[in-house]
Amino acid sequence: MTEIKNVVVLGSSGSIGCQALEVIRAHADRFRVLGLCVGSDSDALQAQAGEFGATHTGIGADAAAELASLEEADIVLNAIVGAAGLKASLAALTAGKILALANKESLVAGGELCLAAAAAGGGRVEAVDSEHAAIAQCLDGRDLRTVERIILTASGGPFRTRASLDDVTPEEALKHPTWAMGPKITIDSATLMNKGLEVIEAHFLFGFSYDQIDVVVHPQSVVHGIVCFIDGSILQQAGPADMRIPIQAALSYPDRIASEGARLDLATIGSLEFEAVDHQRFPALGLAYEVGRKGATFPAVLNAANEVAVEAFLAGRLAFTGITSVIEETLSLHEPLDATELDAVLEADAWARSEATRLMSVATVTGGAQ
Ligand code: MG
Repeated sequence: MTEIKNVVVLGSSGSIGCQALEVIRAHADRFRVLGLCVGSDSDALQAQAGEFGATHTGIGADAAAELASLEEADIVLNAIVGAAGLKASLAALTAGKILALANKESLVAGGELCLAAAAAGGGRVEAVDSEHAAIAQCLDGRDLRTVERIILTASGGPFRTRASLDDVTPEEALKHPTWAMGPKITIDSATLMNKGLEVIEAHFLFGFSYDQIDVVVHPQSVVHGIVCFIDGSILQQAGPADMRIPIQAALSYPDRIASEGARLDLATIGSLEFEAVDHQRFPALGLAYEVGRKGATFPAVLNAANEVAVEAFLAGRLAFTGITSVIEETLSLHEPLDATELDAVLEADAWARSEATRLMSVATVTGGAQ
């Protein structure tokens, strides 16, 4: 008989959190909800805690970090949005937990800190991000020296072929063609910043250099991740665009367990398309590669400025094309700090938020507010 794992779900009222609870509900023979944490939705928290019998609940980032290190917890699923999830990731890794990580911003802002915490505490990251879960499956059990490069697929978002991005509205940007996700990541997908964050995430998760990490646009979102080997062979992982699959894979690894979800019908799909990224149209991806290579606190600043700019765009205070401009301008003013110190990362994060906010009041930088 399989031992039942105690799971703590952080960000349980969001899109990934709710889907994680669906997975747990379907596999009550394997997983039990020990703790739940939300950002602010106390009604959702109460309802979830009642249904799943969670004995530990919390609201906010400090409570999340506390729940992440609960003695009885086996797995911590971090589905908090933004760098607010970093402390909880560090707490889980330091306490030796399996960290099922949907909060990619933890690795973008604090990649070196997460690696150090895992090394010191014995924790391990299992990626929930679909591209990284795909690559992990292709890499599983292989000699990493036989890998030439990895490729993350990008749907290209809703504006892959749109004539002009100057007049994009939040409503249009929130309509993702293939994935149903929370608002922040949906806007990140529309600018391709999500793929940029994922490149940095992949660097820290798998240890490949930025020269070994590529991105290809694949509008159907059928193939999620690709590994190219030194003999010219390529392995790809494919599946329905259903986040419950990577969530379940992260929770159950190294086991693979049954799921009731939809299946891919390859004959109906017919053909798979791949195309190069249009960097002119989507400068955010190149920016992420640049800061990833620079290292130090540049990725933390990119992430924080992006969070502030996306929020402003959603509130109608910033043009769509202004998101990347604000990030670029904030980065150009940054004096980097050593990213192996948590205080330095938090300081850079806070600086970037206030600097990006200041810059957004300057119309020439933002490309004009809407
Ligand atoms: Mg992803």
